[in-house]
Amino acid sequence: MNQVSTEVLVIGSGVAGLMVAELLSLEKNVTIITKSKLGESNSKLAQGGIAAATTEEDSWTNHFFDTIRAGVFHNNEELTELLVKRGPMQLRHLINLGVRFDKSMNGEYQRCKEGAHSVSRIFHAGGDATGKEIIDTLINRVKKRCTILEDHLAIDLLIDEGECTGAKVINQAGDTLIVNAAYTLLATGGAGQLYPVTSNHPAITGDGLAMAYRAGAILTDLEFMQFHPTMYAGVLITLS
Ligand SMILES: Cc1cc2nc3c(=O)[nH]c(=O)nc-3n(C[C@H](O)[C@H](O)[C@H](O)COP(=O)(O)OP(=O)(O)OC[C@H]3O[C@@H](n4cnc5c(N)ncnc54)[C@H](O)[C@@H]3O)c2cc1C
Repeated sequence: MNQVSTEVLVIGSGVAGLMVAELLSLEKNVTIITKSKLGESNSKLAQGGIAAATTEEDSWTNHFFDTIRAGVFHNNEELTELLVKRGPMQLRHLINLGVRFDKSMNGEYQRCKEGAHSVSRIFHAGGDATGKEIIDTLINRVKKRCTILEDHLAIDLLIDEGECTGAKVINQAGDTLIVNAAYTLLATGGAGQLYPVTSNHPAITGDGLAMAYRAGAILTDLEFMQFHPTMYAGVLITLS
């Protein structure tokens, strides 16, 4: 069985995997393994944009309460606070990395108002190609600094005395590869492909959830599934 070693192993190449790989590869040796081609993910399909409170009429508390209300108060408040407080900083970080969010004729960033947001605070890129713009920008940066293994499927985490030491991976030819790593990050997305009608990318089959569960992780809130209203499937029943 083939073996390779790396300091950091990132499993998945959506926005979560690529952002962390981009950051950590400044200082560490990073390997990204991904099930299909680099960047093929739900992230690349994301359209609407990213919300962040960035104007004087807005604040992190506004954004926090909009989010909590939309979540019918089920949200983890500590994490929601972290998310909305860090939003503007992360947005600036993406702009510094080269993401071109859409601007108006006067040079100001366009901000949209959608869903449960009470204020216009959604930034988009290329119209409705926000995800693609972000993923393309991140790919440009990580491909210079990371080892990238495309068409590699992680099938299990390696656990040694309660510690994760990497992952067992299968390549397109069906050969098994052991990737030893000091740090392993699961960024394999959700499980939308479990449904027959879905807008999710074909790669999004819940693999990471299953691997984490087999490794002993506790999974929570699995009933929350992202869906898109345009994927509504109607069934016509005729009564005679
Ligand atoms: C059509 C659509 C529109 C959306 N619009 C928006 C929007 O406007 N705004 C917004 O905030 N969110 C939106 N979302 C949701 C958003 O895209 C996701 O929440 C986000 O992209 C998830 O990022 P991620 O990196 O966690 O996972 P993903 O982007 O799904 O990436 C998962 C990665 O893991 C890889 N992978 C999976 N299993 C394995 C395995 N076993 N081995 C190796 N690699 C594996 C996949 O190939 C993929 O590269 C949208 C989603 C869809 C589908």
